Amino acid sequence: MERDEEPGLEVGPQPVQSVTDAGMEVTADPECLFCRIVSGQVPATIERSTPVAVVFRDVRPVAPTHLLVIPRVHRRDLSDLVARSPGLVGELVATADMAASAAGLTGYRMVVNNGASAGQTVFHVHLHVLGGRPMTWPPG
Ligand code: 5GP
Ligand code: ZN
Repeated sequence: MERDEEPGLEVGPQPVQSVTDAGMEVTADPECLFCRIVSGQVPATIERSTPVAVVFRDVRPVAPTHLLVIPRVHRRDLSDLVARSPGLVGELVATADMAASAAGLTGYRMVVNNGASAGQTVFHVHLHVLGGRPMTWPPG
């Protein structure tokens, strides 16, 4: 038996990891929907693109303005981002704030569903920016 045919050792598609000339880490999971939006394989309405982040419109908006802010690098959820790329956290929040201003929002709600029990359905960390209608509290 070949070594990689060992039963019980199922190895699926692995994240592609490399470093650009600029020294920036590029990590993409070929199975990840939002990585595929970053790479342009899946179309999205892109509102802002920076060296580390992409902002696009949510396909099922729950407010008149509903943006998603994601790092280019694949991180499963906010806890994974904080653990592995803490320097990106502030950068993403700042990008979200700038995107909200650019969309004409004077107030907005920023939401992160961190983990399935919190309602996360796409496992590439994203900030939701919601605006354009009054918000209620508590959220559901
Ligand atoms: P979560 O539930 O993980 O916090 O948020 C995932 C968000 O991604 C949802 O609001 C959902 O509408 C959005 N979404 C899911 N698939 C797509 C897609 O293919 N394109 C875009 N633009 N948004 C998506
Ligand atoms: Zn991803």
